[in-house]
Amino acid sequence: MICVNGNSTDKRIADKCSCGNAAVIFLHYTNRALCEKHFIEMFDRRVGRIVREFSMLKKGDRVVVGVSGGKDSCVLLHSLVELNMPVELIAVTIDEGIKGYREKTLKTAKKECEKLGIEHKIYSFKDAAGKTMDQIIKEKKEIPCSYCGVIRRYMLNKAAKDLGANKLAIGHNLDDIGQTLLMNIMRNEPLRIGRGSVDNNEFVKRIRPLMKTPEKEVAIYAMLKKIELDRKDCPYAHFAFRSHVRKLLNETEEKYPGTKFKVANSYFEMEKTIGKNCTGKIEKCNECGQPCSENICMFCKMKNDLLV
Ligand code: SF4
Repeated sequence: MICVNGNSTDKRIADKCSCGNAAVIFLHYTNRALCEKHFIEMFDRRVGRIVREFSMLKKGDRVVVGVSGGKDSCVLLHSLVELNMPVELIAVTIDEGIKGYREKTLKTAKKECEKLGIEHKIYSFKDAAGKTMDQIIKEKKEIPCSYCGVIRRYMLNKAAKDLGANKLAIGHNLDDIGQTLLMNIMRNEPLRIGRGSVDNNEFVKRIRPLMKTPEKEVAIYAMLKKIELDRKDCPYAHFAFRSHVRKLLNETEEKYPGTKFKVANSYFEMEKTIGKNCTGKIEKCNECGQPCSENICMFCKMKNDLLV
């Protein structure tokens, strides 16, 4: 049995669900042990509640789901299908071109889409930016994730627009939200927190149905749904500032259970307040026509730099 926010060797923890079946998980924050059936039901119900509470989806929406083939995005796809809402889902995978890593997750993404009968599109860094991530890393001294993040965000928004979608669903879980808040504070970039809540027609509206679900629960759901995942991390992950912050947050959670929920709730509060005051003008990039805050967007700047 897995314990979320606690120690699995704690003898006081119940090992049976209230239905009498063996528990697969103990949730410290609600003090409940759940069997497979009741955990999956609770998980799906929570996703549905968040989708309704934040008005994420409505009848007739055309939703692009960013599916990397990792656990979060595959679980997101399964949960959206389970919602059984009258919306259209299209999965999009961005292939960064990371040898020995992306091929495997691409295979998982394809397989899960086939299983669920969801249309699946793949777009590559090589086609969009002229180079794979492996090539970029050989040429550039900067931290790879800064290139990767900008290019991927740009490509997902563009793919969603090109496919006529009005929503873009991404698999950010509760841990990701907490890490993002801490990273923005540590980098002294607090205004970035409000960016996601700014409404602008040029950006396809991003939704995060897993934003209140702890990462451990996403992993257990993936296992119970028999999603075959590649456990290996991206080979460049150790460069990422996020990896450092993840470790810090996990250690703090271990010592002070409930920290992740508190940090994520702070994020949502700040997002509302900062979002209201984010009035930055959105321009169109002179080169690609995509939305940006300057004359040339970050993606085109990077692309031009890569061509030199
Ligand atoms: Fe890209 Fe960095 Fe994530 Fe690897 S760890 S996929 S380089 S953002």
